[in-house]
Amino acid sequence: MRAAIEAFDAGADVAMVSKLHPTRSHSGAAEGGINAALGNAKEDSPETHAFDTVKGSDYLGDQDSIEIFTREAPGDIIQLENWGAFFSRQPDGKLAQRPFGAAGSPRTIYAADITGHVLIQVLWEQVCKREIKVYEEFFAWQLVVADGRCQGVICWDLLNGGLKTIGGKTTVLATGGAGRQYRVTTNAYACTGDGTAMALRAGVPLKDMEFMQFHPTTLYPTGILLTEGCRGEGAYLLNKDGERFMKRYAPNALELASRDVVSRSEQTEIDAGRGVNGSVMLDMRHLGAERIIERLPGSRELAMTFAGVDPIYEPVPVRPGAHYHMGGIETDSDGATELTGLYAAGECACVSVHGANRLGGNSLMETITFGRRAGRAAAEWALSNTTVDVPQSVERDAERELNALLGRSSGERPWKIREELGTSMLENFAVFRREEQMVREVEIIEQLRDRFRNVYVEDKGTVFNSDLTQAIELGNMLDTAWCMVQAGIARKESRGAHARPYDYPTRDDENFLKHSITRWKDDRPELSWSEVRMTKWQPEERKY
Ligand SMILES: Cc1cc2nc3c(=O)[nH]c(=O)nc-3n(C[C@H](O)[C@H](O)[C@H](O)COP(=O)(O)OP(=O)(O)OC[C@H]3O[C@@H](n4cnc5c(N)ncnc54)[C@H](O)[C@@H]3O)c2cc1C
Repeated sequence: MRAAIEAFDAGADVAMVSKLHPTRSHSGAAEGGINAALGNAKEDSPETHAFDTVKGSDYLGDQDSIEIFTREAPGDIIQLENWGAFFSRQPDGKLAQRPFGAAGSPRTIYAADITGHVLIQVLWEQVCKREIKVYEEFFAWQLVVADGRCQGVICWDLLNGGLKTIGGKTTVLATGGAGRQYRVTTNAYACTGDGTAMALRAGVPLKDMEFMQFHPTTLYPTGILLTEGCRGEGAYLLNKDGERFMKRYAPNALELASRDVVSRSEQTEIDAGRGVNGSVMLDMRHLGAERIIERLPGSRELAMTFAGVDPIYEPVPVRPGAHYHMGGIETDSDGATELTGLYAAGECACVSVHGANRLGGNSLMETITFGRRAGRAAAEWALSNTTVDVPQSVERDAERELNALLGRSSGERPWKIREELGTSMLENFAVFRREEQMVREVEIIEQLRDRFRNVYVEDKGTVFNSDLTQAIELGNMLDTAWCMVQAGIARKESRGAHARPYDYPTRDDENFLKHSITRWKDDRPELSWSEVRMTKWQPEERKY
């Protein structure tokens, strides 16, 4: 939505395509807040924000993009506020900022713990105000690549059925994450990596796919997130002996170390038998009822509904859960990909500001700042270049492929393959990674892909055929999961969210201070490497 607004304001003729109503996008679930160095709570600067982000990324983030990001973020926040985002405030009337993990200053602007919900409504209002055309409940399936450039997207019309092609001089993919590759995740059902898979198959490189972030506080057993804002407000993490174990792993930052550090610490406690039923405990009791109700009402409700625990009176069982994909479609700082006419922004893109580990609050900000930049760049290209020409053969090929899928009268149902993918990814590609498990996971994915060739869509109907779209989503998840694990095997070091404590326990800057690049070649991932762009920060050992 941010990209569409900017492209419209730049003078372009814009349409948005979404498989959901836009306000149902997963961003609406974001709780804790959004980072910009306003310096309202304590002294702060874009420079400090940039350093925290570089260090948090385990030095894999591209520093030129990070500097743009932290420099432009404050202006974007003020704009959101002017558009009507009702952020929480300090007593002096300035926007309130809470501490988040690995941040040198309280930097996270928030609207209680419904920040994403607030932002998505504000953006939707701006979309409506501009009367931007929205194709909602349109499922984007394939990019139109003709004449060496992207010229639109072929969609399945969920409400009426049938393939519809939407031509465009430029296309911005903003399709979100792919957490549903894991059986238990904080991500909504719609987070299936569709845009990432579409770009991959169109020949566009993906970057740093091995880095899937596990968030330290997800509820057992559902995987629903409790925001980092809980720890930002002062919650403790305890093991079964009531020990605040983070003091052994991150003596200074404690619970507010970066997410990779906290998740590994929790998993170590759980694996050593110091957990409670496969979890550790998040204790908020000392914050008091008033603060919990004012600042963390949503988290309290989630804990009560899904764990049967009221955090005012009892600690909540939490464990690391699949949450955020740092990797994605490789773009420059204007969202441009290698394919002319194709741009990407948000979680599906890899600019890269997050490198090997994202800081909490930096993702919502990325969707806004780089969404805006991608929208502007896409509009400028569209306004200064020629026409759109979608060859009929592209549509005919898509039609043929769809008929083959719908025409199949027997085969395996998608849900079973999806379940096996999710279970095996959780087992073999989670917080700690072993070479033999990753190799096994690749074998599993290859077998699942073979079975997927014979997948059977039972519903042959046209109206809301979620059986069909789930089959397509499954294909997307299988291909992108393969890219992730393949890159994980190749990265023989531990960096950020990619931890290999059993064979390569340390970071190896000499050999792996570089991005993994995955392309799709002969129906499989092909790996290469590219340089990390550094400006002023040389790699150091990370301590919190
Ligand atoms: C529970 C939770 C809490 C979080 N809290 C925070 C937080 O407090 N702060 C923070 O910075 N980050 C947070 N994050 C991360 C952050 O919210 C996400 O990374 C970010 O919102 C993703 O935004 P997006 O616009 O890229 O994708 P989304 O918001 O997921 O939007 C994707 C859009 O693409 C559409 N789409 C996808 N596939 C297709 C297709 N095939 N055809 C058509 N349309 C399609 C969808 O309909 C949707 O409209 C949180 C994440 C989770 C899971």
